[in-house]
Amino acid sequence: MSSSVITNIGSLVTNDPALGEGPLGLLEDAALVIDGEHVAWVGPGAGAPAADESYDAAGRAVLPGFVDSHSHLVFAGDRTREFNARMSGRAYTAGGIRTTVAATRAASDEELHANVARYVAEALRQGTTTIETKSGYGLTPHDEARALRIAGAHADEVTFLGAHIVAPEYADDPAGYVDLVTGPMLDACVPYARWVDVFCERGAFDGDQARAVLTAGAARGLVPRVHANQLGHGPGVQLAVELDAASADHCTHLTDADVDALANSRTVATLLPGAEFSTRAVYPDARRLIDAGATVALSTDCNPGSSFTSSMPFCVAVAVRDMRMTPDEAVRAATLGGALALRRDDVGRLAPGARADAVVLDAPSHVHLAYRPGVPLVSAVWRRGVRASI
Ligand SMILES: [Zn+2]
Repeated sequence: MSSSVITNIGSLVTNDPALGEGPLGLLEDAALVIDGEHVAWVGPGAGAPAADESYDAAGRAVLPGFVDSHSHLVFAGDRTREFNARMSGRAYTAGGIRTTVAATRAASDEELHANVARYVAEALRQGTTTIETKSGYGLTPHDEARALRIAGAHADEVTFLGAHIVAPEYADDPAGYVDLVTGPMLDACVPYARWVDVFCERGAFDGDQARAVLTAGAARGLVPRVHANQLGHGPGVQLAVELDAASADHCTHLTDADVDALANSRTVATLLPGAEFSTRAVYPDARRLIDAGATVALSTDCNPGSSFTSSMPFCVAVAVRDMRMTPDEAVRAATLGGALALRRDDVGRLAPGARADAVVLDAPSHVHLAYRPGVPLVSAVWRRGVRASI
């Protein structure tokens, strides 16, 4: 195992308040030493121990690699027309997912592998070093298990989302579909997933159905996470908290009781501004959640229907501009927040012992992620201690 040192870091986000200033644990004129896959040392540049190799950050900012805790990358097909129509004034409904289901079922394994690899690489170029992805465009035991197997070849975290929508074959028998998801489909999928998820929303699955899906998954060792309260008020957030889900995702339409429940739980509120951006919907109220004491994560929700972005810097910029998060809060939510939403303590921070996942920005501060929206600021990425070719 070789070691390397990143020197002349103008501004280093560690996300460890013990190491630097404020919640971001910010250090100026810093250095970071990597040993093998892990961070060995961080501190003032003058005190950095020697290493085999050296990289000069030349005064630029370094932060933990982004942790994208919510994406849907195993799909085929294209929904440009749907997006184009929506931008011309038509409302978004969950039904558009069926188009992707048909294309995904028809695709070969090779095609799906190539698609996922492409989007994971695209995310890495934008600084994402940990990514979760889901099934949910197969909706048969065979197609869901296939999606999870393919996801696991490329992504760090894999989620079973057989309960994305009711499969078209069960349009008249949603109860029968829930039986399939909690029975044979779960049997086929358990070996390939860590998490179980459900789209708890009008037009998808109601509270009772969502509970059945999550508790069946939990009984088989999968940990719940929930698509909750995206399109309207509903039981999703309360169910997520009750079942100790790792994350309630979207959280766009919340009652005071929902906010209180999140604030008094370890369930992370994962906000997905790409979805509101791409559907011209109202953004979630991040300020309300943060001020109440809830833990907030930011993720892309990268999917072909409602949020076709793999860019965490884009999500940070939108969260600052339109969700009234401070730049510090948004950067923390996109790194440490994502790690907490995946119940991981090895990523999302740059402290001794953490995975050496680091991003060098072509900028003097992490604030530039919001200050310079749309600009490709990621200039170097380390993942598991290895500098990625991006
Ligand atoms: Zn989603």
